[in-house]
Amino acid sequence: MKVYCPYCKKEVDYKIEERQLKEFRGIEINTYENVAICKECNNDLYVDKIESDNNKRIYEIYRDKANIIKPQDIIELREKYNISQRELTSILGFGKMTINRYEKGGVPTKSQSDYIKLLIASNNEFIKKASEAYKNGSISQKTYEKIISKQENNKVSKEDIQDLYRKHIKEILNRKPDIYNGYTQLDLEKIENIISYIASKVKNLTITSLNKYLWYIDMLSFNQRSLGITGLTYQHEKFGPTIIEQEYNEISLLDDKYKREDYENENGTITKIVSNKNFDLSKLNENEIHIIDTIIKLLKDKTVTDISDMSHKEEGWKKTKRFERISFEYAMNLSMLKNNI
Ligand SMILES: [Zn+2]
Repeated sequence: MKVYCPYCKKEVDYKIEERQLKEFRGIEINTYENVAICKECNNDLYVDKIESDNNKRIYEIYRDKANIIKPQDIIELREKYNISQRELTSILGFGKMTINRYEKGGVPTKSQSDYIKLLIASNNEFIKKASEAYKNGSISQKTYEKIISKQENNKVSKEDIQDLYRKHIKEILNRKPDIYNGYTQLDLEKIENIISYIASKVKNLTITSLNKYLWYIDMLSFNQRSLGITGLTYQHEKFGPTIIEQEYNEISLLDDKYKREDYENENGTITKIVSNKNFDLSKLNENEIHIIDTIIKLLKDKTVTDISDMSHKEEGWKKTKRFERISFEYAMNLSMLKNNI
């Protein structure tokens, strides 16, 4: 058998020497490894087959001695929650393809292995990790809900999920008061009550029109008082101003004060917001309630398309580009005021 020797710079014969290997990754393994040696210059040579045999032997002993998790255990963890390799990788916060490698026999470090074992042993730890991954955007809402639904005896309650939505919404939308939120601190409780109130007065409140109601309420408020009401930040989108980062989706999922109802029509799915009629306006002053009533009165008999067209006539929409945040300075010149109030 000949192999290329980089020292002799030619194909050479080699012999095999057995060397003791006491330790691997800090664990005593007391095995040996075979090393190919050039018969002409006595340097160590790399021979693929010999190295892979060494690795196989070393990893097997190491896995056993260090009590490293087996590929099958990882596969079973994924199957338990019905998640993909990529989803598990995201939850664990490991590098791309890590789980793929481990399931194919790659050997995790001792600390990674211990960590995965902990998550296998404790549902609560796993759910905690999954909820962190959901909150920082590493896994989707769909994945998170799938994991929760697989949870034995459903330790995560509906309230926990709602709280999680609220935490997520606040993390995205809670910003220092500035011209983009009408110099107003976000108040989610207030927002939920306002939405419930609007929905109680408006028959066909869709998510699209709700965005416009809230925007007009904040703009009118800023026009009159140099302050918003909700503390929300809005951006320019095709059908008019909307809450940034599509957080209106998350907000629509909060169901203490209102609920979502989906309807099918020829244009696809229409999502309506229906009030639970348990709103509490005690956090709002008379001025604010008057502003909200004014906008409701103005918009409630208009179709979504009319409301959308109306918002397209506003400077705040005309002078911004798609996905750009809409400054409250445009509240000083509302076309809606000239034509309607
Ligand atoms: Zn040589």
